[in-house]
Amino acid sequence: RRALDNDELHLAYQPQFDTKTGALCGVEALVRWTTASGENIPPSTFIPIAEEIGVIGELGRWVMRTACRQLVNWRKEGLHNLRLAVNVSVQQFYGTVDLAEQLRAILVDKGLSADRLEIEVTESLFMRNIEDMRAKLQRVRDLGIRISLDDFGTGFSSLSYLRTLPFDVIKLDRSFVSDIDHGDEGRTLAITIINMARNLGKTCIAEGVENEGQLAVLRDAGCDLVQGFLLGRPMTAEDISRIATASVA
Ligand code: C2E
Ligand code: CA
Ligand code: CA
Repeated sequence: RRALDNDELHLAYQPQFDTKTGALCGVEALVRWTTASGENIPPSTFIPIAEEIGVIGELGRWVMRTACRQLVNWRKEGLHNLRLAVNVSVQQFYGTVDLAEQLRAILVDKGLSADRLEIEVTESLFMRNIEDMRAKLQRVRDLGIRISLDDFGTGFSSLSYLRTLPFDVIKLDRSFVSDIDHGDEGRTLAITIINMARNLGKTCIAEGVENEGQLAVLRDAGCDLVQGFLLGRPMTAEDISRIATASVA
């Protein structure tokens, strides 16, 4: 609550690249909290608390508005093709304002077209009433916003949800990417998930790419997009502008 009241949050942006061309395609917005005393609290600590005390709706809305405002700025700088991915907590689907309606209002307010925006959701969605969830996701997707299944492969994800729920993007979890380095089995698993995503007609993005060996395997397997410390850490909006200009040049 203090973070929100005192304006102590800001966003970092991690670049996402086309695996084949190396071009910058998009960014993932990641929230940061620096307290008045200068302490950095990681989102893995404060997001669950925000969910627990019921401020995730307000926090999520701040993140969405701030990231969309930044996307407008990047577009003014000429970065017309940049996509923006924003993490959305499952509870944001159950707030007082319908999420699809909230997103629509933000897009209109910022003058953004929906096809530049992507929301990242996790399989915690599956714990809810699945028919209800499908309808809620579909309403978001009907606006033209893409839906990405984050951390894919972790937890208890059942493959049947890929059929039931309307996902556009599968985000291969970091643990599978790091397993690429740990023997044939790990590599095979990563490649198999990428093939599955492709065969289902979904875009596949790998996160947590940390070395050239992993990147080579992902590229050979036909993974569409890559994100990770090797290619770029979460950074300021200005840094994104800088690398975008460099990647065009
Ligand atoms: P996530 O959505 O899976 O985000 C990716 C996390 O992996 C980020 O941590 C990022 O800094 C880190 N990462 C990126 N590349 C690499 C890499 O190559 N190696 C390693 N080891 N790590 C990498 P971060 O920023 O600490 O975020 C942690 C989690 O907090 C996120 O995981 C997401 O679940 C949540 N989160 C962050 N921002 C938001 C937000 O605005 N809303 C919601 N609901 N959740 C958020
Ligand atoms: Ca994410
Ligand atoms: Ca993730």
